[in-house]
Amino acid sequence: MRIDFSEVPLKNRAFSEKPMSFVDEEPKTFLSAIIDVAAIETGNRTAREHWQHKQLQNLLEHAGQRSAFWRERIGAKKIKGISLSDLPILTRSDVVEQVETEGSLLPSKTIATSKHATSGSSGTPVQFFISEMNARYNQIRSVAQYFMEGCDLTLNNTVFKPSLRKRTEGGFVVEKSAGWLGPLNSLFQGGIYKKFSHSRPNRDLLFKELAKDPIGYLVIQPSLVESLFYDGDISFLYENGTEMFIPTGEAADRDLRDRFVAAGIPVRANYSSEEVGCLAIECSDCPENFHVAQSNVIIEVDNRDSVVVGSNRLGRVLVTHLHSYATPFVRYDIGDFATLSEGCGCGHDGLVLSNIYGRKKRLIKHSDGSVSRFTMGAGRILEIVKCDEYRIRQTALNTIEVEIGGTDQVSADQIAALKSLFKERAGDEFQIHINAVRSIDWGTDTKRLGFRSEVL
Ligand SMILES: [Zn+2]
Repeated sequence: MRIDFSEVPLKNRAFSEKPMSFVDEEPKTFLSAIIDVAAIETGNRTAREHWQHKQLQNLLEHAGQRSAFWRERIGAKKIKGISLSDLPILTRSDVVEQVETEGSLLPSKTIATSKHATSGSSGTPVQFFISEMNARYNQIRSVAQYFMEGCDLTLNNTVFKPSLRKRTEGGFVVEKSAGWLGPLNSLFQGGIYKKFSHSRPNRDLLFKELAKDPIGYLVIQPSLVESLFYDGDISFLYENGTEMFIPTGEAADRDLRDRFVAAGIPVRANYSSEEVGCLAIECSDCPENFHVAQSNVIIEVDNRDSVVVGSNRLGRVLVTHLHSYATPFVRYDIGDFATLSEGCGCGHDGLVLSNIYGRKKRLIKHSDGSVSRFTMGAGRILEIVKCDEYRIRQTALNTIEVEIGGTDQVSADQIAALKSLFKERAGDEFQIHINAVRSIDWGTDTKRLGFRSEVL
């Protein structure tokens, strides 16, 4: 190991001006937390797994002391000798029950907690508590990734966040700040942080705003990229300094990824959830393989209830969040399917997830019980009908509901063309219902996924 700051953009006044000090407390604490994360996730596997085992015991001791719900799940088992497979799987409705009956398991005097909820479009969102430590960890983990990969800290970070706020003229609000490195902004001269909160952005106004600064790291929902660049031409992005595409909120389709790679822009997805934060991050050497964020979670894949997609057998992803002291998530069925391997082709000695498919994102269920991947780029829909937004939902085994937003009327020819496009992609067995609406009622669904199956 060689620690050397000669290549790092240290600020001229990076160091402390106080007596007997080197680096001020806040950036020092943050930097040391980044080193913790990197040491656990990239270091010796036995040390990592021992740490995880001890953290699991700590969490179970805490849950057993504070919660009747968890005492019952742990039962008569001795926590010292417990292994995860001794515990039952935790479902969404189990979490709802625990939170409703017991609230947060952290006394408010010890560490601050706050209530959060998932943004499911159907049914009741799952509510849960997170602690201040979880919020801090999420910030550290997201910055740590850039250090672990040796990324250029001087590039800008351009982030898109869906927002339910009232629409502005351009359909977005932009906020710019001096850095994206959190407390390390005082130590390093990083690029700017530019955040777009958007509902339905106006393409011309958005491009005008984007062209003002080099884009750098682009964190964006793939469906938004597809709708902005429906003709498939992403030259605007590389001409304006996009150095990395970081898809967020949903998986990017193969052809979208290929377009970026062909333009010389690497794609680096991350897999995360609102309940637990970072789950896994795409390998920089082996695309579509995700190193598990083992400083945060233990991942299991349960193959007893598996589905076959293409030539891959995928199991249910079970997540144990090691720092979930407010609302424990232990063996939580997060609703996604994936395959789990013991190592990565890049040489990383740790668990790797691949073929990750979200239950409600990109899989469609057929009446014979089989499951297949459903993809529909915005470009194909926009070729048929000019619209601002769309939502596709599988609402029953043989039914797909399509809403076309921002247009008053869809002609009979357009309906026929859309129906045949959907039948070609999903299968002839489906009844396709097409509805034109002024604007789509997304409810609390901030992810605004183009497609969801409500059947799986
Ligand atoms: Zn790897």
